[in-house]
This record gives sequence, structure tokens and C-alpha cells, in this order.
Amino acid sequence: MAQDFTLHTHTNIFDGKNSAQEMIDAAKAHGMRTIGISNHFIVHPIIPTTASYAAATRGGYAKMYMDNFDGAIAEFQAHYDELRQMAEKESIQILCGMEVDFFDSADWHRGFERALKVLKPDYVIGSGHFIEYNGTLCNIHDMANAAPDESDKMLNEYWEKIQRIAKSGLFHWLAHLDLPKKRGLGRDDKWIDAESRAVRAIAESKSRIEINAKGFTLPISEAYPSPRILKMVADADIPVLISDDAHAVDQVCRNFDDAERLAVQYGIKNRIKLQNLLDF
Ligand SMILES: [Zn+2]
Ligand SMILES: [Zn+2]
Repeated sequence: MAQDFTLHTHTNIFDGKNSAQEMIDAAKAHGMRTIGISNHFIVHPIIPTTASYAAATRGGYAKMYMDNFDGAIAEFQAHYDELRQMAEKESIQILCGMEVDFFDSADWHRGFERALKVLKPDYVIGSGHFIEYNGTLCNIHDMANAAPDESDKMLNEYWEKIQRIAKSGLFHWLAHLDLPKKRGLGRDDKWIDAESRAVRAIAESKSRIEINAKGFTLPISEAYPSPRILKMVADADIPVLISDDAHAVDQVCRNFDDAERLAVQYGIKNRIKLQNLLDF
């Protein structure tokens, strides 16, 4: 296996299925030298009013959608304390990460800067699970359920948001670039321009991306990012790492070999080394 670290993983304090210890043991079993735990850090004042919040509450995941930074910081502090204690005993390197939903308001920036100062994560992943749209927050399921013209507007905003996440310069890398494809959105060639603008913003801001192996269901055209984006990423020489986005032990390092083959197939030569990533 070409990559001996896995950094995009989730545990059962939020929407994962297994404990940190179980995820760590799984990574060790796969011969990883490093595992990072990157639970969701999603803070927005109106999140409790959204459709996804109701669904998250039913699923028992309400804790991962926070309407204030103090609450989110307190959750992560307890979580990181536990991880840092484990790290002292373990033979594998354990890192404290977070998968952050980026929101572009002054309040959000202030809150997030405070979170970084207090929590001192080893790395932060930038994600766009939500867009701000018509005074509310929408996720990819809301996009998929909207009327077609509305859905197109949302998807357009999604790609604009990816540009803003990259340009913010806050993140070690961007997660699952074309996430809406998970709900069948954005496959049409008419989205190539929006994708290429996003890829250009990523390259210009010296950001990096992941191949998210969790999305793999053969055929390979189902991967995130899709082959047409991977070609753009290769042409722009954007640095890439492989993520499993594991939410359970059986997903740790899953499809890493397929992701590796895909990277080679699409000419991606710029692979992120762990040390360079952490020095960022
Ligand atoms: Zn995600
Ligand atoms: Zn994730």
C-alpha cells in the first residue's frame, strides 16, 4: 500500500459507529503508521432549524450539529483529551483532526479562530456538506429533493462555495470535492465549467484535495472526485492524498488500493507526504 497513514476517520462520539480505540486498532491491523481522527465540526446559528437537524436528532447525531462554538469546542476538548491520552500509550501515531464545515461569516471566522487556538488540532479538513441558500442551510439531500431549476442553483452555489473554502487558506485539504454526485447531482457535462473554476481556485490558493475512497462503488466513474475532475487535478498538479472517510472499523483503509490505481491512471503525480501536510 502506497500510503501508510489514514487521516479522514470518524468515531462514535458523533456519526461514526466505533470508538476511537477500535478505529486505531483497525488502522494498526492495516499496517498504518499514523491514524488521524477527524470528527465533524459543524457550527452554524440556524442549524437547529434545518431539515437535516431533525434527521440528525432522530439518528442520535444531534451533537455533531452545533449552534454555538462554545458547545462545539467543549465537545472536541473532551474528545481530544482522550485521544492525546491514548497517543501516549500507542505504538501507532495518533493525530487530532477535524472535518470542518466552512461558513463565510465574520462570526464564523472569529469562532473558528478561537476553536483552533483552544483545541490546537494537528490538521483541519475543509468540507462543504452545507450551503447557505434562501436564508436556510441545505445539504446534498435537500439539493436532490428540490425542483430541477432550484437544484441547479443550489449546485452552482455549492461549487462557488468550494472556491471560497479553497481561497480561505484555512484547511490542510478539501474533502470529497464533488460530494453532490452521491445523490446523482452534477454528473452532466454542463457542470464542467463550474468544476474547472473550482479546481483553478484550489490550484491558485495552493490547496490540496483527497481522493475519497468511501465513494467507490464500481464502476470507477462513481469515485469522488470523478475522473473528469481527477484529470483537471492532475493537469493543475494539485497535491492529493487518499482518504477512506471511515465511519466504521470495516471502512478503515477500504479501497485504498483502488484509489491508488485511480491516481496512477489519471496521471496524479503530486502525492501529499504526511510530513509536508503537517508542516502546512
Ligand atoms: Zn464529509
Ligand atoms: Zn468525513
